[in-house]
Amino acid sequence: MPTERHGGELVGTLRFAHPTGVNWRARCALPTLRLFSGGGWGDSDDHPPVATQPLSGYVPPTMNTPEVPKSIRRLAGRAIADFDMIREGDRILVGLSGGKDSLTLLWLLRNLARRAPVRFEVGAVTIDPRIEGFDPGRLRDYLAAFGVPYFFVSEPIAELAERHMGKDSFCAFCARMKRGLIYRTAREQGYNVIALGQHLDDLAESFLMSAFHGGQLRTMKAHYRIDAGDLRVIRPLVYVRERQTRDFAAAAELPVIPDSCPACFAKPTEREHMKALLAREEDLHPRLFRNLRTAMDPLMRADDPPEREDGRAVPSSGVAAGHEG
Ligand code: SF4
Repeated sequence: MPTERHGGELVGTLRFAHPTGVNWRARCALPTLRLFSGGGWGDSDDHPPVATQPLSGYVPPTMNTPEVPKSIRRLAGRAIADFDMIREGDRILVGLSGGKDSLTLLWLLRNLARRAPVRFEVGAVTIDPRIEGFDPGRLRDYLAAFGVPYFFVSEPIAELAERHMGKDSFCAFCARMKRGLIYRTAREQGYNVIALGQHLDDLAESFLMSAFHGGQLRTMKAHYRIDAGDLRVIRPLVYVRERQTRDFAAAAELPVIPDSCPACFAKPTEREHMKALLAREEDLHPRLFRNLRTAMDPLMRADDPPEREDGRAVPSSGVAAGHEG
């Protein structure tokens, strides 16, 4: 079996057919324990470990973790450092909807965990709202093949909405329910950080919707502590463009679940309208998103008023509610 050094691990390579129909290259990690050697966040290639020592027990073969491009790692690394998102010993739970953004975020953090100057762990949780036409179930087989700690929570949110929705839109109710279930899973499983996949395009769209329809200068925060105080929420992709996650998802053949939730994606949304508006403007002004990022920086940092526990950045209009990435 050929072996190589990969991210500080001694690995061998196997090839086998996976039930998804894709022939995968599998990484068989030989038992080692890596000690981080310091260095930057995502701006360089693998840092060699200071030392390795044997682990007791056998590490079973896993699929090769998809390699996220350096262009994404570099931008995410800068955001992580700018907003002090990841700290020594963090246990990070990625909110995995199955969209291209949350899948990219999962592999980004798994990549960074091999290279980062601090030690942290990464798992994932998917909330299945049991909405007809939206089936994230196949993520279970996919992630099992990589050995990612993974939690799949199925909850009849559509049924609950009929009884408890109140004045919310269904999507706002669903987003709030999903966020609460993510928090509960994190607490039960001992995670202290929730990672969400919103990117720069999402933040820009939320910013415009809030200004246009809510009369407020708001967007999603890059990093904050929830009201209850026990969990932090981070968004490492806040400097990354949507087209970068789309390109990576296609290149890595990620099992993206299309934005097919009939509750939110069957008809054009206000977010889609803002997306089109921004695209037209960017054609004329290529630095548009760089400028928007600068303009939004204080809003991404602002502590007051805090984001609500349902993740909504714009309480007065609810326009920032929706899919978890
Ligand atoms: S799009 Fe809206 S309704 Fe559909 S799963 Fe996401 S949050 Fe729920």
